Amino acid sequence: RTVEQLDAALVTCRACPRLVRWREQVAREKRAAFADQEYWGRPVPGFGPADAAVLIVGLAPAAHGANRTGRMFTGDQSGDVLFRGLYDVGLASAPTATSADDGMELFGVRMVAPVHCPPPQNTPTTTERDNCAKWFRAELDLLFPTARSVVVLGGFGWQVALRELAEFGWAVPRPRPKFGHGVQVSLSRGAEAITLFGCYHVSQHNTFTGRLTPAMLREVLAAAADHAGI
Ligand code: SF4
Repeated sequence: RTVEQLDAALVTCRACPRLVRWREQVAREKRAAFADQEYWGRPVPGFGPADAAVLIVGLAPAAHGANRTGRMFTGDQSGDVLFRGLYDVGLASAPTATSADDGMELFGVRMVAPVHCPPPQNTPTTTERDNCAKWFRAELDLLFPTARSVVVLGGFGWQVALRELAEFGWAVPRPRPKFGHGVQVSLSRGAEAITLFGCYHVSQHNTFTGRLTPAMLREVLAAAADHAGI
């Protein structure tokens, strides 16, 4: 199956009753405020080319960002920071992303998510995380042939990524490496190798408080791109 076929199947998923209710409730309530747009309100697929060398692993779509626009990190302040950073290091075609049809292109980068529907308070339950792992796993499987660097935004994505990589037969050390900003972990599977890059999440909390600065983000993105040879 191709990444496009996977995405087409994903957007019909209703496996998590709480998240389906929430994504649709937000879409119903907010539709009036965004009357000129179609409010997505469905699972949000990954964004970027299927032969990407760099993957960016977030957490889950934002209720009023990706859940509205249908494209990862598009339409909210976290995404504004991330797209600006990608643009600044030459990995995106424009510095701001406003809607799914704004013409944005990512160069050699694909955004993927461990959870594809927005959870209340940005906190999926363990069951929801496990439900969505099948999509995450299937997507990683399709992307691994070309992926060389994985930028993981925040501790949640770090834990899920390491768990799934271990499931896939990658040699993940025990105890598992701890998440931290600037942490790099190289993993191998036979002759294949990938490197994980830890980066604080581009959440408003982190960027407003200065825990994650634009320079810190650029540094991690540039290191991941260098490592992947793009
Ligand atoms: Fe399906 Fe994932 Fe959304 Fe749950 S979070 S309904 S598994 S797409």
